[in-house]
Amino acid sequence: MIDESIFKDKKVAFHTLGCKLNFAETTTIGKMLLEHGFRKAGRDEVADVCVINTCSVTEVADRKDRQAIKQMITKHPGAYIIVTGCYAQLQPEAVAKIEGVDLVLGAQDKFDIIRHLDNLEKKEEAQVCHTKRSEITTFSPSCTRGDRTRYWLKVQDGCDNFCSYCTVPIARGKSRNGTIAETIAQAEAAAREGAKEIVISGVNIGDFGKTTGETFLDLIRALDGVEGIERYRISSIEPDLLTDEIIEFTARSKRFLPHFHIPLQSGCDEVLRLMKRHYERSLFADKIRKVKALMPDAFIGVDVIVGTNGETEDYFNASYEFLQSLDVTQLHVFSYSERPNTQALKIEGRVRPEEKKRRSELLHALSEEKRLAFYRSQVGKTAHVLWEEKRTAGLMHGFSENYLVVERPYDKALVNCVTEVVLGELNEDGSAMTIKN
Ligand code: SF4
Repeated sequence: MIDESIFKDKKVAFHTLGCKLNFAETTTIGKMLLEHGFRKAGRDEVADVCVINTCSVTEVADRKDRQAIKQMITKHPGAYIIVTGCYAQLQPEAVAKIEGVDLVLGAQDKFDIIRHLDNLEKKEEAQVCHTKRSEITTFSPSCTRGDRTRYWLKVQDGCDNFCSYCTVPIARGKSRNGTIAETIAQAEAAAREGAKEIVISGVNIGDFGKTTGETFLDLIRALDGVEGIERYRISSIEPDLLTDEIIEFTARSKRFLPHFHIPLQSGCDEVLRLMKRHYERSLFADKIRKVKALMPDAFIGVDVIVGTNGETEDYFNASYEFLQSLDVTQLHVFSYSERPNTQALKIEGRVRPEEKKRRSELLHALSEEKRLAFYRSQVGKTAHVLWEEKRTAGLMHGFSENYLVVERPYDKALVNCVTEVVLGELNEDGSAMTIKN
């Protein structure tokens, strides 16, 4: 049993890469360490312990992880170096080989960090605490304030889908979640801290309830009753899990906002089959029509991957035309990156990098066209904006309920407040709406 008095006032520094879920989890790990006597290192202080929470969504992400680990080792000479996150889960040996790393914590062990700590002295060889996917069963709830005004409520983790290009099921384990009661308690705690808006997050949140016999619809109905939280956003939901009941509930709810983020990945059925996605594009089009029928001003963001193995030019053109036909607001375009141990590696027909770039540029241009058209359609409408702290050139920004970026002259009294505005024209570079009143 370790004598925790050695942790007292030890300075800890954090570095997080990747998705919002990773940032939420770093905050949870941080809270645990502070509860056991550590204190956060100041910006220019040399820390005694460093925690690097990694991402492994692409090859570039892996490279950035290694750079970040080496930078932390250089910036904090002599510190005890702990690496966790998806890269640590997927390639623990590669991480352990990085000179200066002392402890590698896989997905099952990251929230058990205290138990894995010892005398914090540097090691000849890194200690690796790692379990395979089937043994990653712990769900650790978290609700953390992001870098702005919104709170991120982690409701689910892991995934059982195994889309052919994706390593997340291996990196984060089986789909699992906490109970509705536990999740509500997190939201109530955030409300006591003054949270106005919560973003519901996870890996495959539509799968919520799999390990507790509950459903995502049950969850959002329960969250709708939490006093103090004025607004909820559903961070991202798989199209085949976005049921008509969820859409109807969102349309009726005063707190669940008309803002959807739905991963499509390709607008071509042949490519969807190669990706092992669980739907055809007609289902996706139906969901969009349903959302727009009930919430005509809803903001819909769509994930698309270009250049996956087997995506011929014809398939890409079919995907482009389908996306062009959709009444959506913005595309989040990703270039396919080969990941170890994924089925997509077995698919013939690699797309050349310059061709991937061409396709990506075409979709970015289409996305900007759609975003500007949507923004222009909102001029003169009434909106409710949650204003953020950051001040830029005398202006402050916030998001409307339908996820428009809105700007106004800075007024400190409005930070973390929701105010009603009449939307004016777009600003000079089209990046935000101005206000009339
Ligand atoms: S749904 Fe598919 S793409 Fe999303 S995390 Fe699961 S396996 Fe990956």
